Amino acid sequence: MQKKNIAIVGSGLVGSLLALYLRKRNYNVTVFDRRPDIRTIRFSGRSINLAMSVRGWKTLDRVGIGDEVRALAIPMYKRTMHTSDKPVYHQYYGKENEAIYSISRGVLNRKMITLAEEAGVVFRFNEKVWDVNLPEAKIYTGETEKGEWKEYQYDMIFGCDGAFSRVRHKMQRRSRFDYSQDFLDTGYKELTIPPNPDGTHKLDKNSLHIWPRGKFMLIALPNIDGSFTCTLFMPHEGEYSFEKLSDRASVQQFWEKYFPDTLEIMPSLIEDFESNPTSALVTMKCYPWSYWNKVALIGDSAHAIVPFYGQGMNAGFEDISVLDDIIEQLGDEDWQAIFETYQKSRKPNTDAIAELSYRNFMEMSSKTADPVFLLQKKIEKKFSEKYPDKWLPLYSRVTFSHRPYSEALEIGDQQANIMKRVMQLEDIESNWDTVEVENYILDLLASESYKLQD
Ligand SMILES: Cc1cc2nc3c(=O)[nH]c(=O)nc-3n(C[C@H](O)[C@H](O)[C@H](O)COP(=O)(O)OP(=O)(O)OC[C@H]3O[C@@H](n4cnc5c(N)ncnc54)[C@H](O)[C@@H]3O)c2cc1C
Repeated sequence: MQKKNIAIVGSGLVGSLLALYLRKRNYNVTVFDRRPDIRTIRFSGRSINLAMSVRGWKTLDRVGIGDEVRALAIPMYKRTMHTSDKPVYHQYYGKENEAIYSISRGVLNRKMITLAEEAGVVFRFNEKVWDVNLPEAKIYTGETEKGEWKEYQYDMIFGCDGAFSRVRHKMQRRSRFDYSQDFLDTGYKELTIPPNPDGTHKLDKNSLHIWPRGKFMLIALPNIDGSFTCTLFMPHEGEYSFEKLSDRASVQQFWEKYFPDTLEIMPSLIEDFESNPTSALVTMKCYPWSYWNKVALIGDSAHAIVPFYGQGMNAGFEDISVLDDIIEQLGDEDWQAIFETYQKSRKPNTDAIAELSYRNFMEMSSKTADPVFLLQKKIEKKFSEKYPDKWLPLYSRVTFSHRPYSEALEIGDQQANIMKRVMQLEDIESNWDTVEVENYILDLLASESYKLQD
C-alpha cells in the first residue's frame, strides 16, 4: 500500500526527531520551519544548552543515534552549590554513575536534522506556516500573514512548532478545545563563563552549578568547548528584578553583592547582560492534542513547561517513543485510534511534569540552601540507599526512571507527607541517623499503605 505523506511543522528538537522516526517507518516526510537551516546559521534560539536524562536517551537510543549524541554531551553527576554563607558543597543527583547530560541545543538539533535528511526526510526551511486546514490536512506557508500563500496537501500533519504553535492555534478555534497559558513572574537571561586559554573549564565540568539566592538564582551548565552557559532566573519586576538592573552600574553592583565569586570568571558579564535578551517562561496546557486522524500535536506545542526539572525536551522525546509504541501495538492503519490512545496516555503525565517543574523552581531557588530541607534530603537519601525497593526519591523517579510522571507526582506527595512527619520528630537534628527514625519511616510506609511500586 502507498505510504502516507506526512508534514511536520517545526524542525526543532522534537520535530526533527519525530521526522527520523516516521521516516524509519517508511513514510514520506516533509518538515517545514520558519527559520533558516540551523546548520547554516549561528544558533540564537532559546536556551543554549539543555540537560538530557533517561527519557530523552531512551528515545534517541531506540532510533539508533544515542551513542552519537552521547559523544557530544557532558555528564553532570551533581549539583554544586555556591551559597553565600558556606563553602561550596555538592549534592549528588542519584546513585553512583547516574548523571544528567549537558548538551548544546544547536549541536543536537543540527545532528538530528542531518540524520533525518540522510534518512530521506525533506526539509523546507524559511517557510512559515500561517494556517492549517484541519479536516483536509492542508498547510499554508508564505512570507507574511497578509501576503501570498502556498498551499500544500498531506495525508497527516504533526504540529511540532513549539509553545506558541500555529497548528494548535487553529485547533483552539474549535469547540470544546481546552487551553491555558500561565506566564511565570520570573524570567531568564543567558550569560557565559568562557573557557580557560587552554580550552579547559573554569569550574568543575561534571556539575550543574547553582548559586541560590532566594528570589533569584544563577545556574551554569558546561559546554564541550570549555565554556559554561549561565542562566540568571529572576522576577521581571519588584525588589530583586530585571527591571531594577537597567544599567551597567546596577548590574555591576548587584553582581558584586550577590555573585562576587563569579566576577572574575565572567569577564564579559556587563556586555552579555546588555546584549542578551530577557526571556519569559510559560506553562501551556491544552486538550485534545489531535484532530480526527489528520493532525496531532507533539512536544511543546501540546505541553510547554517551565524548565526547572530539565524535562521539557525529555517529555517531548518521550511523546515520540510512546507514539511509536502505540503504532507498534495498534498497527499503522487506524490513525484516529493511534492519536486518541497517544493523547489519553500522555496528558496526565505532561500535566504532572508541569506541576513538578513549577514546584522545583521553589526548591532550586530557595530550599536548596535551607538546613531543614538539606537534613530531610539526607534522611531520605540514607533511607533509600538502605531500602531501595521501598523508597525511590522523587528526583530519581522523574530523572532516572521511565515510570510515568503522574506516578512520580503521586508517590512524591506521599513521600513528602511522610517526611513532614519525620521532620516534626523531637530532636530530629541530632537523632536523624538512628534506627528509631528508620523504623518510624518503615512503620509509616506500612501502616498508611504508602507501599511504593518499583
Ligand atoms: C531556559 C530553558 C531551559 C530549558 N532547559 C531544558 C532542559 O535542561 N532539559 C529539557 O529537557 N528541556 C529544557 N527546556 C525545554 C526545551 O527547550 C523544550 O521543551 C524543547 O525545545 C521543545 O522542543 P519542540 O521541538 O517541541 O519546540 P521548539 O524547540 O520550540 O521548536 C519549535 C520549532 O518550530 C518552528 N516553528 C514555530 N512556529 C512555526 C511556524 N508557524 N511555521 C514553521 N515553523 C515554526 C520553530 O522555528 C522551531 O524550530 C528548556 C527551555 C528553556 C526555555
